[in-house]
Amino acid sequence: MTPSSKPCICNAGPDGIMEFIKTAGVPAFRAKQIADWVYSKRVFDPMQMKNLPLSLREQLQDYFNSRILEVVDQISASDGTEKLLLELADHEKIEAVVIPSFERRTFCLSTQVGCPVQCAFCASGADGLVRNLSAAEIIEQFNVCCERIGRLPDNVVFMGIGEGLLNFDNLVRALDVITGENMFNMAARRITVSTSGWTPGIIRLAELGRQWNLAVSLHAPDDETRAKLIPDKLRRPLAEILDACDLYRQKTSRMVTFEYTLLSGINDSPAHAEKMAQIAREHHAKVNLIPYNQVTTNFQRPTDRAIKDFENILLRHHVQVTVRVEKGAKVSAACGQLRKNAAKK
Ligand code: SF4
Repeated sequence: MTPSSKPCICNAGPDGIMEFIKTAGVPAFRAKQIADWVYSKRVFDPMQMKNLPLSLREQLQDYFNSRILEVVDQISASDGTEKLLLELADHEKIEAVVIPSFERRTFCLSTQVGCPVQCAFCASGADGLVRNLSAAEIIEQFNVCCERIGRLPDNVVFMGIGEGLLNFDNLVRALDVITGENMFNMAARRITVSTSGWTPGIIRLAELGRQWNLAVSLHAPDDETRAKLIPDKLRRPLAEILDACDLYRQKTSRMVTFEYTLLSGINDSPAHAEKMAQIAREHHAKVNLIPYNQVTTNFQRPTDRAIKDFENILLRHHVQVTVRVEKGAKVSAACGQLRKNAAKK
């Protein structure tokens, strides 16, 4: 795959397709046929668009790119989790994960190559940011994952590599295509945008008033503990993050989720749990506990007992809490690990 300046057909939308129609000088009714192939049937190769004349298919092929990333590696776990290593046109690599649970399929997608936040416990951030993903690259991940399961997913979470709110415009464009009525038409409430707590982005997202879910990685109930996990340059004060979450809830009526990676001896004490319960209650938020998935030797996963105790304290305070079931732990499932392994090779 080589870099190309052509627009990607998956990101064209009705407007982009209409622009093509005008440039190509073909009847307007063809726009609907093309949009139907792309957004209803998820067929992106013009040569497969059988009800179009060959000349039009060739014009489409000249005008648009139909594939801008490639699956170069994949690992499947016994629980069905499928982790894909995707190569972009400039040979950078990202990860996308298809996660099964019961009848549901969830996609976990990336928003950047590398990550500028560089959380101390995360493989994705270890080497910093390489570049933002374009909207088309984000949408293409979605399409590649759809191909794996042969249908649209039940949920999409933007919890892969990157801080999505630092790639705001491209992320929002991709979400608009994924949830747009005339496009892939997924329900907005089945999409979750995750952030490390980048408040300017949370505020902008709140102002849009869309129904996407927001998950904020607090990882600690106080600034002192957070400072051990998230470097200064992109870490915002906890009070500011909580204000931004309140604004998000006011503007969207969506309950925010606080993500909390549990790290032994760092943020897993009963005192942390008590404080976290208080914050969750004050801000009407859910808490998702994520027992650490060993990436570095600097941090340890808490014992099962400590995880249970933490959860019980939250429950005692009537906080809505979930503990993330570890999926694909044996396939380098922590975000960024597969990409890191590829770089080492
Ligand atoms: S945890 Fe998320 S925000 Fe932090 S470095 Fe990793 S990808 Fe970036």
